[in-house]
Amino acid sequence: GQRLDLFGLPLDIISLPQTLEVLSGWMFTAPRAPHTVVTLNPEFIVQSRTQPAFVEAMQAADLVTADGVGIVYAARQLREATVPRAPGYDIVRGLMARHGPELRVFFLGAKPGVAEQAAQNAMRDYGIQVAGIHHGYFKPEEDQRVAELVRDSGAHLLLTAMGAGRQEIFNQYWRQVLGVPVAIGCGGVIDVLAG
Ligand code: UDP
Repeated sequence: GQRLDLFGLPLDIISLPQTLEVLSGWMFTAPRAPHTVVTLNPEFIVQSRTQPAFVEAMQAADLVTADGVGIVYAARQLREATVPRAPGYDIVRGLMARHGPELRVFFLGAKPGVAEQAAQNAMRDYGIQVAGIHHGYFKPEEDQRVAELVRDSGAHLLLTAMGAGRQEIFNQYWRQVLGVPVAIGCGGVIDVLAG
């Protein structure tokens, strides 16, 4: 697909249904290989200006979607491009609805207990398999341990919700260890799934 440059960051012109199709392919059709997904919002653009590792993580991502209307407007004003929205929340729910019991999901992030609740709700609503659960308040020294936990879980889909920057950098830095077909930084999505 087509990729734009927005303030030095990549943005893919891809709709929600197309995104679901691509991610499903990575998880269930293509040979198993790690991929990272970023759902870009205006806060990322501002915050990454003082955080080069965040910029690099976004530039190295396999797919960058527009999380909301802020990015859609920016693409129109600055690039005269029509970019559809593909918000993280809709991507995550869409994948769970589409794949149900064949999908193994690792819930990484939010405060202790919240990912457990999100996982329970997702199992109830979509019948997905829970590959693993970990809160998002561990120290950088523990990154490798957590990455190996994800690797050993056999997850198809890693939901990383640890705040802007931290989640994208984690997914990108550890991608080879994680080995998950789809690792997506998804901000408050675990909180929302927890209800
Ligand atoms: N979060 C986390 N670890 C952190 C910081 C945040 O797991 O060190 C979680 C937080 O509990 C919430 C999500 O990340 O579930 C998004 O947090 P917030 O809205 O504060 O981050 P932002 O995306 O606005 O930077």
